[in-house]
Amino acid sequence: MENKTLLRSLVPGDIAGLVAAAGLPAYRSGQLTDWLFTHGALTWEAMTNLPGTLRKDLAERFDLVGLDTVERQVSNDGTRKFLFRLRDGATVESVIIPMEEHPTFCVSTQVGCAMACRFCATAKGGLVRNLDTGEILEQVLRLRADIAAEPVPGLGDRQFNIVFMGMGEPLDNWEEVERSLVTMMDERGLAMSGRRIQISTSGPGEGLRKLVAASPGVGLTLSLGGSTDEERRAVMPVPGRTSIKEALDLTVRYAQGTRRRATVAWVLIADSTDDPGQAERLARLLRGKPLKVNLIPMNPLDDAKLAPPDEKSIQAFRRILTDAGVDTFVRASGGRDIAAACGQLRRRRLKS
Ligand code: SAH
Repeated sequence: MENKTLLRSLVPGDIAGLVAAAGLPAYRSGQLTDWLFTHGALTWEAMTNLPGTLRKDLAERFDLVGLDTVERQVSNDGTRKFLFRLRDGATVESVIIPMEEHPTFCVSTQVGCAMACRFCATAKGGLVRNLDTGEILEQVLRLRADIAAEPVPGLGDRQFNIVFMGMGEPLDNWEEVERSLVTMMDERGLAMSGRRIQISTSGPGEGLRKLVAASPGVGLTLSLGGSTDEERRAVMPVPGRTSIKEALDLTVRYAQGTRRRATVAWVLIADSTDDPGQAERLARLLRGKPLKVNLIPMNPLDDAKLAPPDEKSIQAFRRILTDAGVDTFVRASGGRDIAAACGQLRRRRLKS
């Protein structure tokens, strides 16, 4: 059977239009978006205050559910990792990360990825397909239901944040990502502030230009991984086609437009991206710009070819940046014991 469009791929404004076109009063559209986004309904039957004819009509034209939970793992540090199966059998990962103040939801935007970064598990199998808006949003709704059923200790009533740091390159799937942002920030959708949402990108030029033009008001992280174009291409071959200068210029322009500092993410790999010379060049590139740096010691993959540097090298790299006046933080990646590095869980299952 052919899949229908997911109803949650439509933004609230389009849903209102659908209800109006069916000749129904406007309050029906509010009831429907409440079910879809506020309650995260997973069956048509749950929508008890909607006329049966409307539910039947919608069910004929749209699918309500796009994901099925295949696996849920909880790490020693509280990180929860999910593997979801999509309607076509493909799988994607999402993660709940308990940060100091808020639970953070890490969501995927593609099945696989075309960027081929050397350190990334998702890159290994290449790109399979883009996710639909509804598939992106349903990850959030399912993670939200999970923390409602089992609150994160100490963060029970805290609003969650969303980071687009799961599988895929969000700016390579910009149209679907943009619609998911609209619903996340719409009053009739998830009613979130853009301050709680962060897009992480490897910075393909075309995608960055679309993002700057759209200026959706969410945070931006640029994954850099090289202080010269040549260094960067060695670890991030496809994003490396865009020059560092262009990627940084666009990132700064975006930051100025949103009046919010952007972040540069730097994966630290032993004997590769941990070289003090790179830290010095990076400091020169970033100094004085509205940017801060997150250093991420690499989460080793199953093949164990690349490894994180030792603590001393990590701190030395950081010191060079902070001494140059660049705000720099070390972000330990959570959930090592449950393979929470981007794409690892899916990869282990595909192999077995
Ligand atoms: N494609 C986007 C979003 C997905 S990757 C991007 O590149 O930003 C999200 C972040 O995870 C990136 O900063 C990436 O560099 C980092 N990452 C990927 N694999 C990793 C690994 N094995 N260890 C540590 N960080 C990793």
